[in-house]
This record gives sequence, C-alpha cells and structure tokens, in this order.
Amino acid sequence: LMLLTRKLIEIRSILLSIGEEAGLTLPSIVVVGSQSSGKSSVLEAIVGREFLPKGDNMVTRRPIELTLIHTPATSSNPRPTTFAEFPSLGPGHITDFSLVQSTLVDLNLSVPASECVSDSPIQLRIHSPHVPDLSLVDLPGYVQVASMDQPEELKDKIAALCDKYIRSPNIILAVCAADVDLANSPALRAAKKVDPLGMRTIGVVTKMDLIEPAQGAAVLTNGRYPLALGYVGVVCRAAKHASSSRSLLRRNNPSDEEGALIGPIRAQEEAFFGGNGEAFSREGVMVGTDTLKKRLMHVLEESMASSLHSISNAVALELEEASYQFKVQYNDRAISAESYVAETLDQLKAKINALGKGFAKKDVRRLLKSFLDEQVLDLLASQYWVDSRTPELGSLANDRSISPDDLDVYWQRKLDALSSSLTKSGIGRASTQLVVDAIRARLATLAAEEPLLYHPDATERINATADAILRERFALTSDQVENSVKPFKYEVEVDRAEWEVGRLQSVDLLQRELGMCEAALGKIRDAVGGRKLRGAMEYVGEMDEKERRRRERRREGRAAGAEDWQADELDDTADPTRPAFNPALLAKAREAMFLSSRSSILRLRLLALKSRRCKAGPEQKAFCPEAFLNIVADKLSSTAVQFINIELLVEFFYQFPRDLDIRLSHNLEREEIVRFARENPVIAKHLALQERKEKLELVAEKLDSLVKLQRDKQQQQHGG
Ligand code: GDP
Repeated sequence: LMLLTRKLIEIRSILLSIGEEAGLTLPSIVVVGSQSSGKSSVLEAIVGREFLPKGDNMVTRRPIELTLIHTPATSSNPRPTTFAEFPSLGPGHITDFSLVQSTLVDLNLSVPASECVSDSPIQLRIHSPHVPDLSLVDLPGYVQVASMDQPEELKDKIAALCDKYIRSPNIILAVCAADVDLANSPALRAAKKVDPLGMRTIGVVTKMDLIEPAQGAAVLTNGRYPLALGYVGVVCRAAKHASSSRSLLRRNNPSDEEGALIGPIRAQEEAFFGGNGEAFSREGVMVGTDTLKKRLMHVLEESMASSLHSISNAVALELEEASYQFKVQYNDRAISAESYVAETLDQLKAKINALGKGFAKKDVRRLLKSFLDEQVLDLLASQYWVDSRTPELGSLANDRSISPDDLDVYWQRKLDALSSSLTKSGIGRASTQLVVDAIRARLATLAAEEPLLYHPDATERINATADAILRERFALTSDQVENSVKPFKYEVEVDRAEWEVGRLQSVDLLQRELGMCEAALGKIRDAVGGRKLRGAMEYVGEMDEKERRRRERRREGRAAGAEDWQADELDDTADPTRPAFNPALLAKAREAMFLSSRSSILRLRLLALKSRRCKAGPEQKAFCPEAFLNIVADKLSSTAVQFINIELLVEFFYQFPRDLDIRLSHNLEREEIVRFARENPVIAKHLALQERKEKLELVAEKLDSLVKLQRDKQQQQHGG
C-alpha cells in the first residue's frame, strides 16, 4: 500500500500542473491552526528539519504545497541525502535548509503586503530517507484577534483561503495548543463546518507539556468534539529554546546531516509521555510525533485508495475530451516548441532571402538615381529656374549662328559649379545611408508580418543583429563609393549615345515636374475659383509692381520729394470698386503665380531640350544643363551601385542569416524555446492542449496500473 500513496502523490503533482479542476484533484493533508498554535513546529517535527520562516512579523502569505518523498537506502545508494527543491524555480537540489527557509521568506514576500495573502501556492518538495511519502499543505495561521499589523481584512482573507483548502477530499490536520480551550480553536471550528462527523479531520494537540498529564489525556479523548480519526498529542521542541542546544548537537553528532530534529524530539516525547505513563498509556490515547506520522500515512493512504476509482474515471473522461478536441482542432498533429522555433527561423531566413532579391543592382541603381534626380532638380530650380536670364539661354539655343564657344562664360561657369556641387555632395555617405535606410525599412515591414508579429523580443534582437552588420560595413562602403566617384569631380566625359539617353531622361523629368506644377495650379484654381483667383493674382501682380517701382526710386537715390510721396500715396489708394482680398486668398494667389511662372520656364526649357541644338550632342551641354546634370547623376549612381553591392549588400545578405542562426537559435535554453513558441497564441493554444492530453495520458496509464495492482491484491486477500 505504501506504493499507492507514493504513486498517487506523484500523480497528484502532475494533475496539479494541469489545472485545478474539480474532480481532478487527489487528497492532500491540509494543515490549519491559529497563529502560535505550534503548526510550524509540528510540520518541522514531521520533516525532521527546520525549514519554515520564523519570527513574529513573518506571516505566511501563501500556501505551501509540501510534498515529502521518501527515499529509501538502497545498495547503490546506502546513504541517500536529504534535499529540497522548488519546482517553480527550476531544478536544483538544496541541501542547506536555511536556504529553504530564506527562499520561502522571499516567495512569501513576493505577495505585496497590501494583498495580505495569496491563493497561489509555493511548491516545495523534500526528499529524504527520514520522511514518509506525504503531501501536505501548510496554510497561513488563523488570526484570532485583529490588531494594527494584522487587520480585519487579513483575518477574513486567511479564513477564506483555509476554507478553500479544507474542502473534500482533503484531510484536515487541525492544530490546537493544549493550553488553549479546544472550544476556542478556529481550526476545529472551520473543520466542523465542512466535516461535521470528523471523518477526515485529525486533531493535533501541541504543547502537551504545558498542561497536567491527566488533563492532557482527557483532552485527547475528549467527547465534546469527537473526531473519527482522533486526536494525537505531541510535544514539539520549542525552536527558540532549543536553538543553542541544537547547534551543540549538530557539532557533536555526525548523523545530524539527516533529520536533525527527529532524534531530539523523539527523546523529548519519550521522556514526557513515558514519564507520565499512567496518563497516556490508556486505550485509544495517541501521543508522539512518530504516532502522528504513522497516523497521517495511514489516513492519507486510505483516502488515496478510496479516491483511486473516482479519480481514474475523472481522468479517463478528461482524457477522452482532450483527445477529441485535439483531433477536431488539430487533426492529431503534434507540434513541439523546438520545431516551431526551427520553422520560424527558416521562414524568417526565406523572407530575408526574398528581401535580398529586392536589392539587385538594378533596383539599387534605380533607388540611387531617383535620389540624385531629386538633387539635380533642386539644383536646377535654385540655380536656373529662378535666374531671370534663363529664358535668354533658350533663345540663344535657337540662334544657329552662335557656337558653344561664343556663349557667355557665365553659363559655362554655372554648369561647372552645379556639376561639381553634385559630384562633391558626399555621394559616398549619402548613397550608403540611402541603401541602409532602405534595408532597415524593409526589415521593419517584416516585424509586422508573420512570423515575427508575435515575437517583439526576437524582432528587437533581429534588428540589432542587422544594425550591427550595417554599422560595421558603413564606413568602408561609404569610403569606397566616395573613392570610386572621385574622377567625376574633375571631369565628366560624355559620349554621343549617353548624351541622347540623358537628354531624353531629362525631358521626362522636366515633363513630370511640369505636370506636377500644373496639377498644383489646377488644384488651387478649383479650390478658389478661376475668376476669383485671376483677380487676386492681378492684384498681387500690381502690388508687386508698385513695390518694385518704389524700391527702384529709392535705389536711384532720389530724395523723397513731395512729388514722390504723392506718387506713393496714389499708389496706395485702394480702388473702392475692387473686391477685398483676404490674406489666405492672397497667399494662394502668390502660390499660383509662382507655379505658373515655374510652368512657363519649364515649358521653355523643354523646348530647348527638344531643340536641334540640344539634340546635336554633348558639346552643347552649356545650352542644356538639365541633360548634362542628368548624365552626371546617372554616372554617379551606376558607379556607386557597384561598390554598395560588393561592400554592403553582398556582405550583409551573406552575414545576416548566419548571425541570426547564432543569435536566435544557438544555445537556447529549453525554457526560452518554450517561451518563444508560446508568444504565438495559435501555437500556445495548440501546445497547451497537446500538453494537457499528454499529461492526462501519462496519468491515466499510471492510474490504470495502480487499479490493476489493487485489484490483484484484493483477489489475493480474498483467495488467501
Ligand atoms: P505557529 O505560529 O502555529 O507555526 O507556531 P510555532 O510552531 O511557531 O510555535 C509557536 C510557539 O510555541 C513557539 O515559541 C514554539 O517554540 C512553541 N511551541 C511549539 N510547540 C511546542 C511544544 O510542544 N511545547 C512547548 N512548550 N512549546 C511549543
């Protein structure tokens, strides 16, 4: 039968890890008692070790699920060590019980004082040759009198927590002190409510040494609160007084290693109960910690045995349901966190590979070119299109008698200056930055898609990995590009074929620009109304004209005579027949005027670019700066792309997936893998059901063999 308890305790822990569903729990012994009733002393006497937090302020805030596992001496392990483990803190054998004590303190303090107590139990297992197989739950002690640091709320919360645990099928260990009237024991009172006949309540009367033996024996056999499972009287060493003698004992007694408290307590109880033999040797009087242990083993065993059938049935039903769900929802497809991590990484690498394909030379060239096109347009706008002499350049282009050499050197210098400001604009840095930004932007889009969507931490690591490589390649790439475009800073040679391509491209660009101007103009016209806009534009034009004249007069240095004042006055007089213009409208009108003058200059430039002169060839470049600068931009981008490709892109897309392998999947702890997989809610759900089913299968199997074993035993008994 010993085996049964042991196996069922094992099963109980598995079931606890599945959840707390009713019907799926196996009985445990719950220890209740008021504060200072000696509850901790009893538990420590059972375990044979001091391991519970002590001190007046230390209120146990969480239940402790204490599982004792008997490890018998075997030939291969003649002296098994006593050790504790906290399953929630990962594997680890603790042999120093003061560490168990301090860990319990920490775990208790993890409940904020404002919450008082928490339902969430601390799991603690103790393996020892000196303990029986038992599963116990230590609950916070009942508070009897509310006080400053133990408010009413705490009292109620503890009572509620205890009520939850003393439900069937658990066995209630009600701890009461001998020197306090049993009628005042909150533990017994609570037990009576849920177990009126005392069928699953054991009374433990502590501090038997504090009352007269005869009186003590009477308490143990009391008829006032009869319990079917009876009362056991104990004398558990008072920890405070014993500490000095115990350390003495520890030094002198090598066998103290194991179950330090057992010997002294046994001696103490033998002295007390044996010394008062006439009182305690009566029939039906149970005394001593050893008796209590045996009693608990026996009661738990019986309770477990009687739960065996119901729990087997419950597990079978749950398993059936879980299997059915697993079939329906997942078609019995098993997955693992490991395979999910591997698949995710593969998927990610495939995506990165596809992303790399989007950075082919032609794509990067296009990217650089359109960046430089913008630069060229900005230069043209600021240097040519606002230059009042530019229309003149167009007419000169049409004059066949003028050769490029006859052209005003002004135009030649302007073009050279522009070309050099383009080639010297820091193409190396700018183009590298452009490509780096593009890569990072594409990576950012990956973060919002499967599979990264659910994995923000991993995404952060992925970006950091990418950034590290990009950072490492940046300076080199940018220097190489800058070097490669160096020749263009001195001269840009253009052949006829290149010229024609560049000319056509610049026509396209200007046409696009013109289109945008006209569209913007149209928009304003639609918003304001054609007529109104025209009126406002005329007005702005006149105002500008007046302003121009005024400035001219001042510039010409004429003294401001009365005549001029009059002229100014006259100019300022508003025409009463004119409608008033509000500032917003005037701003629109100004914008429209700018756009329309820009459009007309663009039209002129387009005519020039399409003229016979521009078509003639590169030697006409001073007449057609747009075409020439376009070619410069083209040459810069195709040269830059070579080095960006070699130094940045090839390196990056080679290195990135390899670094990801290292940073994302090498040396991952099992826990990290599981945590990662669970971040994906679909996988988390799948894994949860799968795990539940697997655990239930395991439990069902174990229960089956126990049921068989028990049946065989019964048959033997009947047969024999
Ligand atoms: P808990 O608050 O219910 O856990 O109670 P403790 O186990 O901490 O015990 C409360 C006090 O009673 C401590 O000072 C113990 O030393 C003392 N105590 C516990 N058991 C006995 C006992 O059997 N006899 C005597 N005299 N004192 C005891």
